[in-house]
Amino acid sequence: MAVSHLECRECKAQYPLEALYVCEQCFGPLEVAYDREDGHRDLGELRRRIQGGPQNIWRYADFLPLAGGPPGPSGRLASRVGLPAGCTPLIRADRLAKRLGLREVWVKNDAANPTHSFKDRVVSVAVTRARELGFETIACDSTGILANSVAAHGAALGLESFVFIPADLEEQKVLATGIYGATVVGVEGNYDDVNRLCTELCAERDWAFVNINLRPYYAEGSKTLAFEIAEQLGWELPDRCVVPVASGSLFTKIAKGFDEWRALGLLEGELPRMNGAQAEGCSPVASAFAEGHDVCRPVKPSTIAKSLAIGNPADGPYALDLARRTGGSVDAVSDEEIRAGIALLAETTGVFTETAGGVTTAVLAKLAERGDIDPDERVVLVITGEGLKTLDAVRGTFETHTIAPTVEAFQDGVPQTVAV
Ligand SMILES: *Cc1c(COP(=O)(O)O)cnc(C)c1O
Ligand SMILES: [Zn+2]
Repeated sequence: MAVSHLECRECKAQYPLEALYVCEQCFGPLEVAYDREDGHRDLGELRRRIQGGPQNIWRYADFLPLAGGPPGPSGRLASRVGLPAGCTPLIRADRLAKRLGLREVWVKNDAANPTHSFKDRVVSVAVTRARELGFETIACDSTGILANSVAAHGAALGLESFVFIPADLEEQKVLATGIYGATVVGVEGNYDDVNRLCTELCAERDWAFVNINLRPYYAEGSKTLAFEIAEQLGWELPDRCVVPVASGSLFTKIAKGFDEWRALGLLEGELPRMNGAQAEGCSPVASAFAEGHDVCRPVKPSTIAKSLAIGNPADGPYALDLARRTGGSVDAVSDEEIRAGIALLAETTGVFTETAGGVTTAVLAKLAERGDIDPDERVVLVITGEGLKTLDAVRGTFETHTIAPTVEAFQDGVPQTVAV
């Protein structure tokens, strides 16, 4: 699958593969387009080529928007070294399934990435493309998780990096970013203010803003999550995926990944039902879904799931279309349900998730309770970040038993279900 050009998602106008992101004719978003060679490949050979690749997202380099060149003996190009992302565990979660009255639930744990979130996938692709295009400085606007990944990739590749965050961001997130040597800029204002500033700076500076002028390439990185899920399921599609929705990019690109492999014949069957998950405190897509609208009304976010707090989601209409077209939905859950979701996942699987994973787990529970899920379905629950990033969300959810250092104190002070 050779990368071909950038294309407007609305009017289909074509553009060269440069640092462009918005259509000059209709202001629609640009997306990477490929030359399709549907069904012409030797599938066995293609699978072996993927399986023989490195244990990271570059095993899917044939499906990513990089100029590339011939792979070397190691199978990889110099431009693709750096901070390898991907190949995260897909865990069969029988105890979680049982709790929810389901048969087959898999947890895709993307906390197991270099900076502990799925953002490493998209940043790896954007930064690699930025280097191909000759950029020497990378940048982003972020509510923290993206900043973390951009700073780490800058360090790994020896590129200068600037990250722009709201000035009142939690200290732990700032510390975990600045340590990589990035220039951390705290902007007095909310995320929308940061975003506006960066869009202006992007027009002025010759910098690669991974989620602005490099956005078409960045977004393609999310497809690798779909490729991995399919490969880990033995080249099969799941029946349903529950995915967090902020801008809606991850949600729609997972389906794009499945679709590209279906077109090649690598996967058979229908697209999975796609269930988007949002927090009630920022649920423009879920609200539009419930009201039957094709576009989203922007909202002012207020939720503990800050990584999903985008009030005006760029891919909202595409996310709505995907959910409807696949027989899925976009649902929202309260902050209380999110906390319960984090605890449920931790207690039943040993996976501690950042708040976005609490959102997906709570939405899965809601779908199961509503009877939306057929007991025979194979469901994939996407966990996008590590719980240590949002420790505040779980404070006060359990009790620590403090005792004197004696056996008596332990006997008297700690409830025990196991007889001694
Ligand atoms: C960025 C992010 C997402 C998804 O964001 P989209 O804008 O919808 O692609 C999900 N979870 C976490 C933890 C994130 O940082
Ligand atoms: Zn257009």
